Amino acid sequence: MAVLITDTCINCAACEPECPNQAIYEPGAEWSMADGTNLTGKVTLLNGKEVDADEMQTALSDEFYYIVTDKCTECKGFHDEEQCIAFCPVPDCIIPDPDHVESEAVLLERQTFLHG
Ligand code: SF4
Ligand code: SF4
Repeated sequence: MAVLITDTCINCAACEPECPNQAIYEPGAEWSMADGTNLTGKVTLLNGKEVDADEMQTALSDEFYYIVTDKCTECKGFHDEEQCIAFCPVPDCIIPDPDHVESEAVLLERQTFLHG
């Protein structure tokens, strides 16, 4: 499953540079699928959603660092553990997202999709 940042985040910025998919953004920052990936132009995400990878999207949080679910692979294909969780100084601040439970196969498929 993807992971999410909870409201115990202290906005320390430690997690953001560690994400291999650039799935983490600072509060208020716009995001795109193309940031930190090989995606460009019109793409169809694994969930069937069609998006313009280069289009900047509205921030998902103005208060805390946030994670773009469609870019999180739980670090599969890059690392043995979630780098954001490993580097976050606040225990249990970043947790598994119960609304996005995914198998290792799906996470690896996403990793290939983002960077293939
Ligand atoms: S688990 Fe890995 S891929 Fe997902 S947001 Fe954290 S660092 Fe990025
Ligand atoms: S490392 Fe943890 S506390 Fe720091 S910005 Fe990321 S989620 Fe927030």
